Amino acid sequence: MARLAWLGLGAMGTPMASRLIETGHDVTVWNRSRAKSEAFEGRAKIATTAADAARGVDATITMLATPDAVDEVVLGTEGALAGLDGSGTLIDMSTVGLDYVTQLRARLPESVELVDAPVLGSVSNAKDGSLKVFIGGTEDAFEQWSRVLEPIGKPMHIGPLGSGQAMKLVANSALAGLMSLTGETLALADALGLAQDNAIAGLLESPLGPAMKRKIDKIESDNYTPSFKLELMLKDMRLVDEHAAKRNVDLKLIPGAQEWITRANEHGYGGYDYSSVVSEIRGSDATG
Ligand code: NAP
Repeated sequence: MARLAWLGLGAMGTPMASRLIETGHDVTVWNRSRAKSEAFEGRAKIATTAADAARGVDATITMLATPDAVDEVVLGTEGALAGLDGSGTLIDMSTVGLDYVTQLRARLPESVELVDAPVLGSVSNAKDGSLKVFIGGTEDAFEQWSRVLEPIGKPMHIGPLGSGQAMKLVANSALAGLMSLTGETLALADALGLAQDNAIAGLLESPLGPAMKRKIDKIESDNYTPSFKLELMLKDMRLVDEHAAKRNVDLKLIPGAQEWITRANEHGYGGYDYSSVVSEIRGSDATG
């Protein structure tokens, strides 16, 4: 069993760290707001700083909101790097983009191994260990760390460092696009006078069905209690936009989805589930 530091106990980090603890790993947790780490009292060691958590462990795992958060927690004062003491492994599971991982690699000592391992799936998948873990790194790193990460979900070796992040941006583009398409098709159904139940029943039989099914309770009730916050999806869509623009990729549908998500965020839906974009497009009032 490995000695691990877990930094970031948000909606995803809490159940993911819990699964590693339940498997028998020796885990030290740290979170910016201490109340979330105190919830681990009796199950894990609780560190006062990220540096303390990272000291003497086999791997330090980050699951944080944004690139800025990873910067602060890894490179900031009393950040993980101070505890790594020039060696060890950092596994970043946050969604931060390929270009950020490349920059982070350049700012870490060569003797610190970096692996990117963002996840596909939501809070329910984090709880039951059925996430998909997109791993970017060497064959050896995959071999070693996929065994540790298995309780969290299915590890997939996507390619060299950064490939996990690249795959995650691709996958989230699909999610954002399909949810916006759900909103537009339902808005069209509304305008054509179809009853919501019938429109949903018909669309569930279409190729859009599997994407809608996972969020159907939220769409039917207009209650978007978050499992994946819209503000985080907007962060991901901005990352997609930046990465595509730098590489001159001509996209039309994905920017359309980003525009709807931006409008939903401006409407105050940032803290709701990202599927509240459906409500934004239909012009109904979402709650969260
Ligand atoms: P979340 O619930 O908002 O948690 C965010 C975490 O980041 C918290 O631990 C928060 O600390 C920490 N944080 C934010 N800014 C920070 C800063 N400046 N310094 C230190 N810590 C900071 O987010 P989440 O849903 O767990 O998502 C985490 C990551 O996984 C994101 O990159 C997200 O895009 C990705 N993801 C999410 C899902 C999902 O369904 N939710 C699915 C796949 C991937 P505090 O507790 O102190 O605020």
